[in-house]
Amino acid sequence: MASANGDSTRVRGWAVATTVALGVGVLLWTERRRALRTPSPAAQSEGSARIVTNLVMAGITAAVSTAAMAPVVTPLAERAERDGLGLTQGLPAPAWLRDAVAVVLLDYTLYWWHVLEHRVPWLYRFHQVHHADLALDSTTALRFHFGEFLASVPWRAAQVVLLGASPRALRVWQRLTMGSVLFHHSNARLPLRWERLLSRVMMTPRLHGIHHSLVIDEQDSNWSSGLTLWDRLHGTYRADVPQDEIEIGVAAYRAPGDVTLARSLAMPFRPLPPTPPRDASRVSSATREAGIDALR
Ligand SMILES: [Zn+2]
Repeated sequence: MASANGDSTRVRGWAVATTVALGVGVLLWTERRRALRTPSPAAQSEGSARIVTNLVMAGITAAVSTAAMAPVVTPLAERAERDGLGLTQGLPAPAWLRDAVAVVLLDYTLYWWHVLEHRVPWLYRFHQVHHADLALDSTTALRFHFGEFLASVPWRAAQVVLLGASPRALRVWQRLTMGSVLFHHSNARLPLRWERLLSRVMMTPRLHGIHHSLVIDEQDSNWSSGLTLWDRLHGTYRADVPQDEIEIGVAAYRAPGDVTLARSLAMPFRPLPPTPPRDASRVSSATREAGIDALR
């Protein structure tokens, strides 16, 4: 029995690893063959140094996250399930339905965490490191300051305890979120019809590109990491900025020298740069009139 369980766990592990590898392969291929946005000259001048910086940051953050997040959050999820703690554990529903509700609510509360990261200055000090990437592609999805993940441990613990997320719900949500984050940061040009359809349900590369604009009015939109429902619910959904008009990044850090590995790691510990003026002028009235489905 034990060996059958071990075998099935191993098979599941391989299935997940193969799916992830295939998914990332398709994204990388599409980014190269069908790019959505042309990187700025500054981003192009960085060459592969940009990718190396993003991957090294990903490695550091993964190590810190494994050491600090997992030992806190996983036991809390086990306890929530065992002792029936939290919102979803009290639902008179089968376990799979409680898990499904927990996954949706974890996604909703991640929306609020993302809003806080932009609204609370000391959190934005860390989150701006992710936004300071001069280009936006699937490696940006891995570019997070380790401090941002450390700061999110209490929030994640509260999510699990208050929502009553079981270990299974937590695992499913983490995998779905990772897949979604890789996808919507990618520079893959999907057929517009597909993307308009997908964006009704989930965050897409064109939508998230608007969130990575250096124009604050545009950055203050499309905060969802999974379902676009949350942005629609709170009036923060935005699809009216053409991709070729978006300047990716943070206004204060426009040169490759501003976003090297060392500078990026030190960025949260330096004073925040002054916020650039909001500027919605680039959105033409014709685009605005076209409404929320003007995604292009
Ligand atoms: Zn953000």
